[in-house]
Formats: sequence, C-alpha cells, structure tokens
Amino acid sequence: MALFVYNSLTRRKEEFVPLEPGRVLMYVCGPTVYDYTHIGHAKLYVSMDVVLRYLRYLGYKVRYVQNITDVGHLTDDADAGEDKIEKRAAQERVEPMELAETYTREYFWAMDALNVTRPDISPRASGHVIEQIEMVKALLAKGHAYEANGSVYFDVTSYPAYGKLSGRKVEEQEAGARVEVLPEKRHPADFALWKRAEPGHILRWPSPWGEGYPGWHVECSAMAQKYLGKTFDIHGGGLENIFPHNECEVAQSQAAHGVPFARYWLHAGTLTVDGVKMGKSLGNALFIRNLLDQYAPEDIRFFILTSHYRGTIDFSDPAIRAAGEGLGRIHGTVEAVRERLAQAPEGEVDGAFAGRLAEHKARFLAAMDDDFNAPGAIGVLFDLSRQVNSLLGTGQPNRGILEEIDKLYSVLAGDILGILPLSAGAPQAQVEAKPFIDLLLQVRQELRAARQWDLADRIRQGLSALNVAVEDTPQGPRWKVKG
Ligand SMILES: [Zn+2]
Repeated sequence: MALFVYNSLTRRKEEFVPLEPGRVLMYVCGPTVYDYTHIGHAKLYVSMDVVLRYLRYLGYKVRYVQNITDVGHLTDDADAGEDKIEKRAAQERVEPMELAETYTREYFWAMDALNVTRPDISPRASGHVIEQIEMVKALLAKGHAYEANGSVYFDVTSYPAYGKLSGRKVEEQEAGARVEVLPEKRHPADFALWKRAEPGHILRWPSPWGEGYPGWHVECSAMAQKYLGKTFDIHGGGLENIFPHNECEVAQSQAAHGVPFARYWLHAGTLTVDGVKMGKSLGNALFIRNLLDQYAPEDIRFFILTSHYRGTIDFSDPAIRAAGEGLGRIHGTVEAVRERLAQAPEGEVDGAFAGRLAEHKARFLAAMDDDFNAPGAIGVLFDLSRQVNSLLGTGQPNRGILEEIDKLYSVLAGDILGILPLSAGAPQAQVEAKPFIDLLLQVRQELRAARQWDLADRIRQGLSALNVAVEDTPQGPRWKVKG
C-alpha cells in the first residue's frame, strides 16, 4: 500500500513520493518561545510526531527540522507592533534571550512529557541572522523586494503566485485590510523581510540597510534552505499559520531560488477549549505544565490522536477523561499479555490467531496510509484488544502467540502512535534503576555476541533473582519488573 497525504498546496490527497527514494526532508514551524507551552502546541506537535514516526516506520530516513522563533515575531501581523519576546521580557524584567531560553526549555520539557520525538535540528532564528540577510539580499537583487527607511519589504506584485497556498487573493487583502497599513509599504499586502530597529529595540543586528532585525517569515525560509535545501519534501504547521506566515515563506523561497519550495504541505487543525477558540487574550489558554497536574501525559497525547490531525478538536475535561478510559483499555490488554508471558507454556504460534493479528496490522497500516488517519488506526487497536482479551479469557495461549501479540502492540501502539505505557507511570525506584539495568543488558548482549553464554546467563538469572524479567525480542532485549 502506498502512503497518501492531503497536500494543502493542491487541496487534494496525493501519493507521497519523496524527492530521493528512501529519504524524507521535513520542516515544521516551531514555537515562538515567549510563554508557557499550551495545549494548542501539543495538538500540532503530537500530530506531526505521528507523521514523523510513521514515515520512520515505513523505513524512510527522515531529517526533521523544527525552528525556535526567538526574534522577529511581532504582536501585529501587519509588521507593526512589538517583538513578542522583547515585550514579555520587559514585563518579566529579564533579557530577551533569557526569556527565550526559559521558554525553549519549557517547550522541550512539555514535549518530552508528551512523548514527542525531538527534532533532529532545532535551529534558533537569532542564530541564523546571516542566512536571513543573505536571503533578503537575493530577493532585492532579483527585484522581488525594496528598501524603505531601513526596512526591506517583499513586493507581492512581483510574485504572481502569492496567495496560492492559502487561497487568498491579493486584491481581497487590499480591499479588506483590517489594519492600518504602514505608509512606507508600496502595497498593503507587502510584508517585512527586514525591519529597522527603533531606538531602544534590543534585538538588533547590523545589515546593509542599517541596524535591524529579520521579519518573522524569513527565518523559516532561510533555515529550511540551510538544513534541507531549496526544495524539500514536507512542510508542516498549524492551520492558523497558513496565512500570512506559510504563504510568505513560499513566496520568499520560490522568488529567491526559482525552484519549488516544500512539495507537500501538511496543516494540523486547531484546538478549541469547551467549544471556544483558545487564546491568551481570551484568557483560556491551557498550559501543559498545569494540565499535567490533573491529567496523565499519555491521556493528553491519546486524546489528541483520537481526532484526525487536520480536524479541529475540542478540549474538555470529560473528553480527556473519556480518552484516558479508552487508552486504559488498550494498556490493560498489553499489561495482561505481558503478565501472561511470564508463565506461558512454550508452543507453536497458533496459525489462525496469527492470521487475525496480520489482518489487524494490515487494517491499522491502511488507516495510517490514508493521510495518517490515527483515529482510524486507534479504532483497529480497540478491535484488536477485544480479540486478544477473548483469547486470554478463554484459553491458555502459549508463549509464541503472546510474543507475537506483544510485538504487534509494541510496533503499532508503541513505535508509531507513541501511546504505550510511559515510564512516567512507573514507580520512582524503577525509573532510577533503569540506566543500570539497561547497562547490564548491554553488557549481556556483548557477552552473547562473544559467545560467552554462561556469563550472559548469569546476568539474566541475577536480574531474575532481583525480580527483573528479561525477555529477548527481535528488537533486542526488554525487561520488566515481575508483578
Ligand atoms: Zn515557519
């Protein structure tokens, strides 16, 4: 089965074919780190994490780049207003970079808690000002930009495809401009590539146009090019950023390079809270740090995955509780299988049940192949759990089939969806012992590779005496504390 993805650029589902066989280059717009990470971020980055995990499951070597915006994101979409980082830093009486560092750490902490895979590269905008200046220079040289009073703007009339991604027309923006247009702009839809730093503006760099700072959109174009090339496979982001941010990225990159920018655009839908749009100005922003006092991180992750990534999802207490109960049923089955494994009799794999496992796996993968349909895939996991529960309830399944079941859950629920029990739920002593047990198992693997079976077995037996069961799987040894 081939993978099909909905491409916002063409507005249809297309077969996913990367530029280079076996390799995927992927960029996702990262957070602006001026405040705590909230549940809206979780919706976007958990969604993109499953895209990443599934591509890796399919065998692609993926390079995943996600920026950190620490300069240039203004409080106003029309290139006026204050830098969000500077504004908040002044309120908190800290250096802008101090603030950015605090909330960058907070972001990674929250994403780690939600079992979101870290990007391969997390470039900071402030660390790539030279690359951004180079891009602005290229756009000026090609006649796609103009300088005005120390700022540089992109000339949308020089780029007829402007508006293609978001489906907005330049004329509409002109007529319906809801904000006051800066008089130095030639056209209301022109956007800043470089902004002149007013006196007192802290984040500033020298440039051919005087001291200033880069516009928000140009960072993603410049950093995507630096780490992924002029044309790459996937660009992801939140639906609320399709305009102006993503639209401007496409315009800048394609105008500067003369080749297509991202080939597939994936946009995650928004998250509402009790039916209302979430926003800090609305006072209903839900921060991950606070939510984790009330809910298990895996329940939040599972809740997000129970709706399609492109759809809107409504956060409410009953919805999270219901998701937690559903996930509990899947976890219950996995735990029951692992408990039974410890005393299961040896035996051949039951062919009929193995066939049922294969069929469920195929259905799960078919759902994922259909534009990463995680809710569909979760539905298959529920079906699978019912089958496995009835197997466990009616007979004495042997080790062979239980291992097959365990392996299947590890791949589908663990590797792809990332919803298997996390160490967060484990007792503290177990968490602390983990590095030591892992080290012992690594030594045991080395002994086995050197055919020192006796010594290898002594490690296994010694761990068993300490109540740690070791199990060898095709992915390597796994351990658990015996119940
Ligand atoms: Zn971006």
